[in-house]
Amino acid sequence: MSALKENYDVIIVGSGPAGAAAAKTFCHSGLDVVIIEKCPLPRDKMCSGVILPSARKFLEQHYDDLPEHIFTTPRTLKCSRYVRMNDDQSRVMSFPALDLAEDPSDEYGFNVSRSAFDLWLCEASGAALADNCFLIDYKEEPENITVQVKHNGKYMEIKAKYLIGADGTISRVRRTLAPELEQSLNWIALYEEHYECQIDLEPGWMYWILDQHSFGSILHKGKNLHITAATTWGETAKNLLKRYVNFLTAQHGLKIAKTTMTRGIIMNDQPFRGDYLLGKGNILLVGEAAGFVRALDGITSALVTGKATGESVLQSIQSGKTALDYYSQHELVVAEQEICNKSHLKMAELGFPAG
Ligand SMILES: Cc1cc2nc3c(=O)[nH]c(=O)nc-3n(C[C@H](O)[C@H](O)[C@H](O)COP(=O)(O)OP(=O)(O)OC[C@H]3O[C@@H](n4cnc5c(N)ncnc54)[C@H](O)[C@@H]3O)c2cc1C
Repeated sequence: MSALKENYDVIIVGSGPAGAAAAKTFCHSGLDVVIIEKCPLPRDKMCSGVILPSARKFLEQHYDDLPEHIFTTPRTLKCSRYVRMNDDQSRVMSFPALDLAEDPSDEYGFNVSRSAFDLWLCEASGAALADNCFLIDYKEEPENITVQVKHNGKYMEIKAKYLIGADGTISRVRRTLAPELEQSLNWIALYEEHYECQIDLEPGWMYWILDQHSFGSILHKGKNLHITAATTWGETAKNLLKRYVNFLTAQHGLKIAKTTMTRGIIMNDQPFRGDYLLGKGNILLVGEAAGFVRALDGITSALVTGKATGESVLQSIQSGKTALDYYSQHELVVAEQEICNKSHLKMAELGFPAG
């Protein structure tokens, strides 16, 4: 990974799909661009890692073929089934496509490893990549944005003309830009366990578990089954997952041989409120940091808005206007707000409590 220099044209915070897609637009621009990432790479991210049709389309248009090493098994997933906790017989029902591309084919989703996929995307951008590099804070100065980081344990200041906050749901770039918004956010807990196990649910489908105040997912991934619980009610996500396991044991023959992973995450309700924050001047927010998550399809939102931030910075350099002037009117960004809003309405109609 790269050593850090003192000055860049663009600093991108976060090596997820939003940061990688933003960086890709600078590929042949000759600009000095760095992606900084707080984790060592490749970094894992709590995510089902399903690339849905809209993201697949975007990738086909803008990237080489996906390399084999990013896939896990089963390679493709059908869309989609659910089980209801309060249904006595727990029938397995089919679920309409949530992705607005509405194409419930047998190869609806690609089942990938997020750590391998995200690193591949970043490397395809050609940008310098500095991992173990945590953004602490930044300040705007007349000519530059000065960014304070801790890189490989060492405190440093680096400067850039443009700062792109692609730092996900817990975004420090957003927090500094809009402390009032930050104060108003509500947080949702998610908890996940991976098992070596048997279960009578056919592999190759995306499964959802719906309950009155919660939803979860069940996914075969490699040798493991991943069960994730998201709660919006008073119950802890860990307890909810315990209830899912009891339910699946009683109704779907779940027999756990070994728990191979436990982890949790929090995410905020900015996407569900449609409360998008695009940035200020030459500081832009993108992907989940800006509040863009299509229902269950955050990767598409991240890729699309990432492309839009990059293009807005390029236009700003040519014209002297701010990057936000372009980004806020970019057709992809205007459209993405509408798509995200619609997808959350659809999620609510289908009985997802967080929608
Ligand atoms: C349980 C779960 C399952 C999901 N499943 C799917 C799915 O199957 N398909 C789908 O399309 N979407 C899914 N999503 C949504 C998807 O994971 C996100 O919307 C997507 O990753 C957002 O991309 P991003 O680039 O905006 O942010 P992220 O992918 O979160 O990347 C942000 C990056 O910024 C880094 N960072 C954060 N703070 C700092 C800092 N201060 N300094 C330096 N680096 C920093 C982080 O380490 C991280 O690497 C899921 C989400 C959850 C929670």
